[in-house]
Amino acid sequence: MGKVEDRAEWITVEGARTNNLREVSVRVPKHRITVFTGVSGSGKSSLAFGTIAAEAQRLVADSYPLFVRNRLPQRGHADADRLDGLMHTTVVDQRRFTGNARSTVGTASDVAPLLRMLFSRIGIPNAGYSPAYSFNDPSGMCPRCEGLGTVDDIDLDALLDRSRSLNEGAIRFPTFAPGTYRWKRMVHSALVDPDQALSEISADDLHLLLYAENLPLTDPGPEYPKSGLFDGVIPRLRNAYLRKTPSRLTDDEQEGLARVVMRATCPECGGARLNAAARASLIEDRSIADWSDLPVSELRQVVAALRDVRVEPVLVAIRERLEALDAVGLGYLSLGRLSTTLSGGEAQRIKIVRHLGSALSDVCFVFDEPSVGLHPHDVHRLLTLLVQLRDAHNTVLVVEHHPDVIAAADHVIDLGPGAGTAGGCVQFEGAPSMLGATDTATGRILRGRVRINRRPREASQTVTVANATGHNLRDVTVDVPLGVLTAVSGVAGSGKSTLAAAELPRQHPEFTVIGQEPLRGGIRSTPATVLGVAEPLRQAFAAANGTSPSWFSANARGACPACKGKGVVVTDLAFLDDVRSTCEACNGTRFNPTALAATLDGHTIADVLTMKAAQAAELLAAEVDVVPRLRWLEEVGLGYLAIGQGADTLSGGERQRLLLARHLADTTDPARLRIVLDEPTAGLHGSDTDRLLALLDRLIDGGATVVVIEHNQRVIAHADHVIDIGPGAGDQGGTIVYQGTPAGLLTHRPSLTGEHLQRVSG
Ligand code: ADP
Ligand code: ADP
Ligand code: ZN
Ligand code: ZN
Repeated sequence: MGKVEDRAEWITVEGARTNNLREVSVRVPKHRITVFTGVSGSGKSSLAFGTIAAEAQRLVADSYPLFVRNRLPQRGHADADRLDGLMHTTVVDQRRFTGNARSTVGTASDVAPLLRMLFSRIGIPNAGYSPAYSFNDPSGMCPRCEGLGTVDDIDLDALLDRSRSLNEGAIRFPTFAPGTYRWKRMVHSALVDPDQALSEISADDLHLLLYAENLPLTDPGPEYPKSGLFDGVIPRLRNAYLRKTPSRLTDDEQEGLARVVMRATCPECGGARLNAAARASLIEDRSIADWSDLPVSELRQVVAALRDVRVEPVLVAIRERLEALDAVGLGYLSLGRLSTTLSGGEAQRIKIVRHLGSALSDVCFVFDEPSVGLHPHDVHRLLTLLVQLRDAHNTVLVVEHHPDVIAAADHVIDLGPGAGTAGGCVQFEGAPSMLGATDTATGRILRGRVRINRRPREASQTVTVANATGHNLRDVTVDVPLGVLTAVSGVAGSGKSTLAAAELPRQHPEFTVIGQEPLRGGIRSTPATVLGVAEPLRQAFAAANGTSPSWFSANARGACPACKGKGVVVTDLAFLDDVRSTCEACNGTRFNPTALAATLDGHTIADVLTMKAAQAAELLAAEVDVVPRLRWLEEVGLGYLAIGQGADTLSGGERQRLLLARHLADTTDPARLRIVLDEPTAGLHGSDTDRLLALLDRLIDGGATVVVIEHNQRVIAHADHVIDIGPGAGDQGGTIVYQGTPAGLLTHRPSLTGEHLQRVSG
């Protein structure tokens, strides 16, 4: 029919130019699942997040300025001739939950309020209204730890160097160092001899020095403040630092504190976070704290057995949420688990559950590679949830590489052909089955079978992880071969990271774990700073212009005064998420006009920071140290990134490959390289995965040992050695199901990993 119907059925994009997109025009069907495919850096995110979601959210932001919640990756402005048919849009990304010790799986998935409602109705004895069961509410929280479940205290062994005297710096905390004002107070108190090692001071005197509070001094030194009473080291540290929120402390103080503070379970509530009344209220012998300790899969059974007509709707809602958590492969988590300990993939799946429960319809959801962290077995359960969202009359957009997710889509949009300036064009639009027949990078990957490594390398030696019991590991002893590629596989929560990223490096510190955690330096770090090429770059600019290098740092004299060199202006909305917008003074370049007036071979510092590694290497060819470092960026498959691109625009997988590039650039003896990578293929197209494997092969042929935690079938099939952990997650996992060659895994029946490998290989 006419135009009106068109508008209702499609989201239309015309002439999109965001980042590398080249006048992209596409139609995205509403109330369908559309997957965006293409090699890394081809422009998938620029289209789905940077154009469609960004514009939709900007429209909402304009109409409700106070309720703007900034969830957008900072990927620049949507730039298109026309966008039509946009709808209310929610971005479900892989940002981890950060920094809040009050956020748990229960609160983040919105199950916690339902549990409180249930206990306030049928818990016995009854503690009152539902806030009385909340550790975030004064009426429910444990008074000792204020609902945190832990208390911080000073670890004396870490704080004191008993072999030293006060004058030699026995108190290992920056503000008590010799010469400081606090050190003077201790010395002039005359409570102890400042030249005597602590170990030689009497226990009573030392106790006073450490624990005295408001002590009137009988015989202080002449320089002690006249009216002053004396507070010992520990009360001083507690009052000055432990009671403050970390963000109010200087970096030095935070680092100092991290070294001397010990976090212990709260002695009053035993970690339950709740006060005595809330803990005493039971449903069939279990308190709400007991419920929060159970893995979701077990809690489901407890709730399933409950029958009570008074609260049937609440029970139904709880059952649905728990079932959804289980269905996204998170059944091994407990509701009490701190959100900050979750990986990016786990965080995203919690957000999916929250949205499933929110009863919204006619919303557009945009997902960022939701299969990350999932075993193929769990990917299928995830797909049923995406279908459920669609069938509730929502529009689902997914940026993905996983062949099974692509196959399950109603519609695919493939971008390419290459990355960065070599990409940005639509290669294919249509049904996934047709994409497999095209001569695109994605088509080739979809057609190809995964090839099993039939000639695995032999280990030169092995190291043994002995009697590992971290988290769910059940006294695991396993050999890790050296000089080969080992893949550690198993369903999410089976214990892969605990074994390979915690126990292995703990028992064998020569292994370095390269993870996906946020980069130090936060918003200010870029590929250039992480790789250590930013400083040589500044030197080159300084030399060419006869000024100081600090003019070419956005953290120093070069900083734009309006945004202080951040490139964005952050508006603090108190109780809502901060709102960020591009700084208008510097147009997001971070630099002031003086810095931007200087050039190197005709390029400003801001120009150079938008260059890719190859271009920058050409410009800096004279800097012998810099060029090979930039090369590593290309080697790990990040040649498409701008060297000055903010770390907050990088995905977890990109951050990891950036850290890998730095580690490789810093490695002096490649033959001794021992690295553990946690899902390095996150965010990688199949063809990029093959390039990464080729790089790992070169490293291993040079003598390196590489251990990868992976779900990716191409990687598992390519490995020389596989360690499969399971069989299930959490309590159902934690044992070695299989160790040996990938070919042997194919026929090893109890292994779910082997079963799926069989399916895709040939
Ligand atoms: P994909 O999602 O397919 O991996 P992206 O859309 O993230 O690709 O990136 C496409 C291109 O745009 C890449 O060259 C990338 O480096 C660039 N790009 C992405 N975000 C930004 C940004 N905020 N600033 C500058 N360039 C960016
Ligand atoms: P995988 O890497 O296979 O996904 P993990 O090693 O991360 O599995 O987790 C194994 C088990 O240990 C799971 O039951 C998980 O919930 C638990 N676990 C992992 N990290 C933590 C943590 N920081 N605190 C408490 N439990 C954890
Ligand atoms: Zn407590
Ligand atoms: Zn600015």
